[in-house]
Amino acid sequence: MRITCVGGGPAGLYFAVLAKLADPAREITVLERNPAGVTYGWGVVFWDDLLDDLFRYDPVSAARIWEAAFKWDEYEVRAAGKPVSFLGGYGFSLGRHRLLDILGDRARELGVTVRYEDDLTDPDQLPPADLIVACDGAGSRVRDAAAEHFGAQVETGRNKYIWLGTPHVFRTFTFGFEETEAGWIWFHAYPFADGASTFIVECTPETWSGLGLDRMDPATGNARLAQIFARHLDGAPLDDAGRGWLNFRRVTAERWDHGNVVLMGDAAHTTHFAIGSGTKLAMQDAMALADALPATSPPAALLPAALEQYEHRRKVALAPLQRAARASSAWFERMPDYAGLPARRFSYALSNRRGEYPAWRYLLHMSTQGAVARTMLRWTLSARRWNRARRRPLRAAVG
Ligand SMILES: Cc1cc2nc3c(=O)[nH]c(=O)nc-3n(C[C@H](O)[C@H](O)[C@H](O)COP(=O)(O)OP(=O)(O)OC[C@H]3O[C@@H](n4cnc5c(N)ncnc54)[C@H](O)[C@@H]3O)c2cc1C
Repeated sequence: MRITCVGGGPAGLYFAVLAKLADPAREITVLERNPAGVTYGWGVVFWDDLLDDLFRYDPVSAARIWEAAFKWDEYEVRAAGKPVSFLGGYGFSLGRHRLLDILGDRARELGVTVRYEDDLTDPDQLPPADLIVACDGAGSRVRDAAAEHFGAQVETGRNKYIWLGTPHVFRTFTFGFEETEAGWIWFHAYPFADGASTFIVECTPETWSGLGLDRMDPATGNARLAQIFARHLDGAPLDDAGRGWLNFRRVTAERWDHGNVVLMGDAAHTTHFAIGSGTKLAMQDAMALADALPATSPPAALLPAALEQYEHRRKVALAPLQRAARASSAWFERMPDYAGLPARRFSYALSNRRGEYPAWRYLLHMSTQGAVARTMLRWTLSARRWNRARRRPLRAAVG
């Protein structure tokens, strides 16, 4: 079976790994327009649920991801004029570059051909293959070439955001809110490597233009943001990932397959960064498609059923997260309405932005703001993290 993946992001590379593991006789090619080691963005966050899945599907790449991942505890909420407050929890983060290096290396070790600097400009020019996986991101050319068939829709979010990085290492996942003369502006920041943190800045379009950010060149704009957030950055600069200010694009597609072409990851669906799950969902798509493909049967006859099974499984799994992402992004669009709340209520509203918490979570939140209760909560969660980790085959990376 010949498989071509258009796009060497997390979806394409991870699917290539899993499809090759399931049947080493498959000829799999990944086409990636960027040179090896080049990508957009900074670090991405993920949690235990993804790690559990990764270890189940390919312990070798999972162990490498685990070893490279930055482990952080707690969320910190810093809103101008209020005392700092804390949310329990823990998570992991990893630079996109590092993740793609790990997946690209693993794919090549297994015999996948990864062709970098191969930009598919015309989807009609794809080399013949039994299966074409369109995993070329939110702006998918393959999807857009048959946009009507796929029923693709793109909805644009109201807020402006920019994905920045900084050498300042945040201790933990931090939300910071500053009030300027043009309104509120905030960041979502987390460490993802020694000496590097992701720093996503977001604000309403009114604040964006009111601060003149719409008219500044990138260097001046980043310097202005570094000045607004100086007390959080200890004087460190902010670097752009090269894409500038954007509005989030929410992509949906009614159908995910068209003949032997199937959509995967951001090409099929995007999920707002406020819940930090797009990479996880892209990799879980890869798992579902690898599961659905018959390992040895003649592919052409069984392909439609396999693609249908994949799409159904993923749409069911995605629905609650997409609802959560919508609620979460809507909270940030209404953020100025919450600004007048006292610190603890503000941070609780932020943590419950998906609107799903039972009432006892409010009591837990209030009772864990003091140093002693917070430390106890951190220890308990830390123990849970290491207990979960203990059950995974962490030494598989050597293989
Ligand atoms: C600000 C921000 C923060 C985020 N933070 C997180 C986070 O913390 N956690 C998380 O899980 N997710 C996060 N995400 C989401 C995550 O980045 C995406 O959901 C994820 O990268 C999707 O993976 P993908 O492989 O589907 O697409 P992509 O990662 O976009 O990969 C697509 C690949 O296809 C290539 N390509 C495109 N067109 C062509 C072509 N014509 N020919 C050849 N190659 C092509 C591109 O170069 C790219 O390498 C964030 C997103 C944003 C915008």
